[in-house]
Amino acid sequence: MPQLGLTMTEGIVSQWLKQEGDVVRKGDCVVEVETDKINNRIESPVDGILLKIVAQEGEVLPLLGILGYIGLRGEVVDGAGTAGAKAPTEKDTDILFVPVSENGSKKKIIVIGAGPGGYVTAIKAAQLGADTVIIESENVGGTCLNIGCIPTKALIHASSLYRSVLTEAKKVGVHISDISIDWKETQKYKNSVVNRLVDGVDRLLKANGVKKYKGRGVVVDPHTVAVNGERISADYIILATGSEAVHLNFPGADLPGVIDSTQALDLEDIPKSLVIIGGGVIGVEFASMFASVGTKCTIIEALPHILPPVDKEIVSLVQADLEKRGIDVAVNAKVISIEKKCGSLLIHTERQGQEYCVRGDTVIVAVGRRPNTYHMGLEEVGVKLEGGKVVTDDTFRTSVPSIFAVGDCNGKLMLAHAASAQGVAAVEYIMTGKGVYEAATVPSCIYLEPEAASVGLKEEDVVNKGIDYTVGKFALSGNGKSLIENGGVGMIKIIADTKYGEVLGVHMYGPRVTELIAACGLAIRLEATVDELITTVWAHPTIGESLGEAAADVFGNAVHWPPKKK
Ligand code: NAD
Repeated sequence: MPQLGLTMTEGIVSQWLKQEGDVVRKGDCVVEVETDKINNRIESPVDGILLKIVAQEGEVLPLLGILGYIGLRGEVVDGAGTAGAKAPTEKDTDILFVPVSENGSKKKIIVIGAGPGGYVTAIKAAQLGADTVIIESENVGGTCLNIGCIPTKALIHASSLYRSVLTEAKKVGVHISDISIDWKETQKYKNSVVNRLVDGVDRLLKANGVKKYKGRGVVVDPHTVAVNGERISADYIILATGSEAVHLNFPGADLPGVIDSTQALDLEDIPKSLVIIGGGVIGVEFASMFASVGTKCTIIEALPHILPPVDKEIVSLVQADLEKRGIDVAVNAKVISIEKKCGSLLIHTERQGQEYCVRGDTVIVAVGRRPNTYHMGLEEVGVKLEGGKVVTDDTFRTSVPSIFAVGDCNGKLMLAHAASAQGVAAVEYIMTGKGVYEAATVPSCIYLEPEAASVGLKEEDVVNKGIDYTVGKFALSGNGKSLIENGGVGMIKIIADTKYGEVLGVHMYGPRVTELIAACGLAIRLEATVDELITTVWAHPTIGESLGEAAADVFGNAVHWPPKKK
């Protein structure tokens, strides 16, 4: 009886969907179980034969009680087949909860890297009873706190405030004179936020009894890491070494003024004109941020669209708004070279067979990030890498059983919160035999004006997977709160499975939708249907009530939008 909810203690077997002797494939629904909250179909975790049904229909079974046995043809279920409704034995739970090493002492875990993957992993390991060590060569907090999410969002907050005061205030009758922005002070504000958070993480590690080593860790064997000439041994090693910016090698890439995203965060002055190579999340966020403080920005993207991982309908809204704000977006354009000419940088690109040139004081190269996995002894000890990414299974275990890898270094999804969630799951697997990482519920957020956020499948994904789906949309021009805040710019789009109405993906563009996306991740986690979104009462006036309207639009009957023509 699997755990189907956080508070679940038992379940009722409502119906067996397979019979003894049936072949079952991994993922086939085998039995239907009812809890005090939901009805759920339990999928087979493996391919095999349903050898024995133990818990009969109507029986109440405690958590971890035995429903039945799936095995290989010819295998015999011995005596245990009568285990029925009994509570899990000590032996069952022993298999699930093994917080100690083979010699009976506390399990020891070494975490390499103290970014959001590593420090969260280390704290969780300590909370679950492990003797935990963390190794970091720089400040704790990794890319996210020091040179990524936090400093960019601090600068974006300041630039957005400036833009609101400059361009929005007078629209609502607020007149302010002598508006200016002092980027050096903005930088100080950014640094103060970063320092405070870095300090906080250091304190949390200490408070949880995690031992910190400052230095570069190198794996010397499956249970040993060398740092600063010392060798530390552990039962498990968890790699959380993050990623670094990719640098291109075109002529002129090393000219002064050509910088990467890390250097862009520390610019002392606001550039007059900026060319950004790469229209991914980093490139587009920088363009939006500097455009808000008066920089003339151009984005150069090699693919036909900016923001490749985002739902295309949202991308076209974002791109149109960027262009309205004076940001030039050149897609299908590849940089060939950069030269210094007449006091600024001239960027030569090839765009659909033609030469396209653009000028800028500063060029930011934001063409992606690659895992930090080099010169760490990984391949030497047998850890399999593919294109620099550490290969792991679903539990984040690498090809060496005692070594796990979480976050950017495994290349699954380069997002801070994904790294933390993977780290928690990996540690739970190590310490309890069971960990949960629901990739489908990992949201992604882009901090623009307004914001973009999404979770779950995009329309392109459901088309490619051949899923029968329906889309519901609600334009924020029909939402009072959005009209007040930004003139009603934005949209909410829900993708639902046609048969059950299950929410498969939500894509949003609008004010503060990076906060609203949390509700959508939860909806996907709980397998909510559009009916459940419609019958949830959303507060008025909020942007969130548009989620209920977008859900109603799946059936073509949003209240605050004219009916669709039949
Ligand atoms: P990215 O991979 O998202 O985008 C890089 C872009 O550069 C791509 O669109 C690619 O086609 C383009 N490109 C590559 N070579 C080029 C060339 N020669 N000329 C023109 N264009 C070229 O990478 P990123 O934007 O650098 O971000 C790195 C990672 O950090 C991503 O995984 C991203 O999700 C993450 N990140 C997330 C956030 C957030 O969550 N808000 C913010 C920043 C970064």
